[in-house]
Amino acid sequence: MSQRELSELTGCDKSTVSVIIKRFEGIGLVERTMGASSGRRGRPSESLRISELSGLLMGVHLEFECLRFVAANVDGRPFASIDRPLPTTPSELGDDVRNGLEALCNEVGRSLSEIRAVGMTLPGLVGSAGGLAESSNLSWDTVAVPDLLRTKIGAPVYVDNDSNASTLAEHLFGVAADLSDFIMLDGSRGIGGGVFIDGRLYRGRSGFSGEMGHIKVVKDGRMCGCGAPGCLSAYICAPALVARSRRVPGISKFSDILAAAEAGNPDVRYLLEEAGQFLGVAMATLINVFDPPAIALGGIIAQIWPYIENSTRQTIQQNAMRTPAREYEIRISTISNSQIPWGGVTLALEGFSNLHPTDPLPW
Ligand SMILES: [Zn+2]
Repeated sequence: MSQRELSELTGCDKSTVSVIIKRFEGIGLVERTMGASSGRRGRPSESLRISELSGLLMGVHLEFECLRFVAANVDGRPFASIDRPLPTTPSELGDDVRNGLEALCNEVGRSLSEIRAVGMTLPGLVGSAGGLAESSNLSWDTVAVPDLLRTKIGAPVYVDNDSNASTLAEHLFGVAADLSDFIMLDGSRGIGGGVFIDGRLYRGRSGFSGEMGHIKVVKDGRMCGCGAPGCLSAYICAPALVARSRRVPGISKFSDILAAAEAGNPDVRYLLEEAGQFLGVAMATLINVFDPPAIALGGIIAQIWPYIENSTRQTIQQNAMRTPAREYEIRISTISNSQIPWGGVTLALEGFSNLHPTDPLPW
C-alpha cells in the first residue's frame, strides 16, 4: 500500500509515517514499488511492500509423525516446507531443529543468518516459559524445549501450543482477521482451541487455557487421551471417529470417513451427525460462557462440517441461552487445512513484530 493509505489506516500523520518508513527502508525491511493504479484515471502510484530480502521467519511444527519446517518471508505467508523424522528422544530435538532449518534454507536458496525468528508449535500443554508440560498424544512430558534449543539456534525462538498458534494465524491471516474477540476450535489427532479476547490470545495463569477438547460432553463417557472420561475429544477427534466407525467396512483412517460420508454411507453419516451433537453441546457452553461474536472451526472439524452442521446448530439452539444463541456466528477456517501449516510462522511473526514483548523467553 501507499504511504497515504498507511497514514489513513494507522491514524498517524503523513510525516510520522514517512519517518518510520525511512527507518524501515534503512534496515531493508520495506521497498518501494510502482503499484497498480489506485483507481484515479488509471495512474500507477508508488507503493510500499515488505522486501523479500528482509529475512526469513521459520515455523517448526512438532507433529506426531514428523518435524515439519515452514519458511516464510517477513510478511508471514508460508512459501515452502519440508518434513523430517521426529527425534526419538527429546535430547535430540535441538540438533534436529537446527539441521532441519539448515536443510530448508538450502532448499529455498537462503542462509541460516537470514532467519529473524523461529516459531515452534507443540502438541500439548505448553507453559508460558515455552516448555512442554503435558502431551496426551506424545509421550514427552515436562520437556524444557527452550533449554534444548538455546545454544543451537541463533535467532529468537517463540514456543506455544499448536492450537494457540492456529488461533493467532486465524486472527492474522484467516477467517477471524476482522475480529478482536472469537473462540477457535481446532481438530486433528485431538481437539484444541484458543480463546481470543480484546485483540489477544488469553493464555490463562500458566499458558494452559483453551483446551476445548476436554470440555465434558458425556458424564462417565468414553475415555479421553487426557485420562478423564467424556471429553469432546473422545467423540470427535480423528482417531475417535475412526475408532467409533470400526464396524463400518473399509474404514481404517480419517480420509476413509470423509470418502464414506461423501458417498452417502448411512452409518458414517449417522456417526457424524452424532459427533455434531457432542460438538453442539460444547459450543453451547462456550456461547453461554463467552457470548463470542464468532466461533472459528478448523482442521478436521472444518472438513466434516458439511455433515455435522445441521446437528451441531440444532444442538446449540437446544442448549444455549436463547438470546446469545440467536446472535453467534460460525466461521469455517480454510488456512487450517492448507498444505503448509501457518501456526509456526505466525508465532515467529508475532514475536518478531512485537515492540513490547510481555513474556520473552530467556534468551
Ligand atoms: Zn480429555
